[in-house]
Amino acid sequence: MKPRALVTGGAGFLGSHLCDALLAEGYSVIAVDNLLTGRMSNIEHLRREGNFEFLQIDINRPFDCGPVNYVFHFASPASPVDYMVHGIDTLKVGSLGTMQALEIAHKNHAKYLFASTSECYGDPLEHPQKETYWGNVNTIGPRSVYDEAKRFSEALTMAYHRYHAVDTRMVRIFNTYGPRMQLNDGRVIPNFMKQALRGDHLTVYGDGKQTRSFCYVTDEVDGFLRLSKTDEHFPVNIGNPNEFTVLQCAERVIAITGSKSKIRYEDLPQDDPKQRRPDISKARKLLGWEPKIGLDEGLKMSLEYFRDAVAAEMPAKA
Ligand code: UDP
Repeated sequence: MKPRALVTGGAGFLGSHLCDALLAEGYSVIAVDNLLTGRMSNIEHLRREGNFEFLQIDINRPFDCGPVNYVFHFASPASPVDYMVHGIDTLKVGSLGTMQALEIAHKNHAKYLFASTSECYGDPLEHPQKETYWGNVNTIGPRSVYDEAKRFSEALTMAYHRYHAVDTRMVRIFNTYGPRMQLNDGRVIPNFMKQALRGDHLTVYGDGKQTRSFCYVTDEVDGFLRLSKTDEHFPVNIGNPNEFTVLQCAERVIAITGSKSKIRYEDLPQDDPKQRRPDISKARKLLGWEPKIGLDEGLKMSLEYFRDAVAAEMPAKA
């Protein structure tokens, strides 16, 4: 019998790529999603896969998905635009949803991996960010619905490990991109790709000097799988330490799409982190993990997906 994995948020960008990777690893997979920000199109290709099931459910209430050996808890709105629109849902899934996912792991004596985030570090005062850094989060700011939900989920995960001996792990994910990102999720790479491919201005927020470190999705998922096989209970950063300013990112997108688009400066959103780069020494040592795909290569690998997505959105020519 194949081991059976539950993936919450399985129709999301990262969740669906994780489902693909787990099926390839020999798991049978049950994906659950309430489709608030997840999309059936992300898992359309798995519908005829015998080892894959999908359930559209709300994980904030008790649910039964049958016996499982591994719980991958990935459900949550994840882009700033999405989590600010769905603020209360984000807080619910990062508290009630996390508790239900942990309950399932506890009841089934299953292993558990939680998708945490670099947002736990907030607007970081330590750079690059090591897992030991406690962060600088505005508890009442607009991003707190996501940041504090994820921080609470980390606390809950550690509590289930300490009090109920659940075999838990957590990954802190840094700005991941690639095919299946929603064109309108508001994150910087889908925004810039869409704008460049349409010939619109690229909207750089603030002066564009803030930094991010972008990880291609297959590298990120490789890190998840490696971590899933360890006994490490404390957080592990998985991200690409190649750091770019947002302006440099816009320039890369313009170059790779061959677009004639120009840049338009817009207001910086409140509490937008000024810098972000993972220290990945722990992942290197513990997992032998290293990202392989640089930003230019990853953008090229994503180009066809974004081209198709933009074409599908354009009104048909008369
Ligand atoms: N950003 C931007 N223009 C956009 C979208 C985002 O300049 O059209 C900036 C945003 O202000 C932030 C960075 O790009 O500094 C990354 O934003 P994103 O929403 O992708 O994710 P975050 O890392 O903030 O969670």
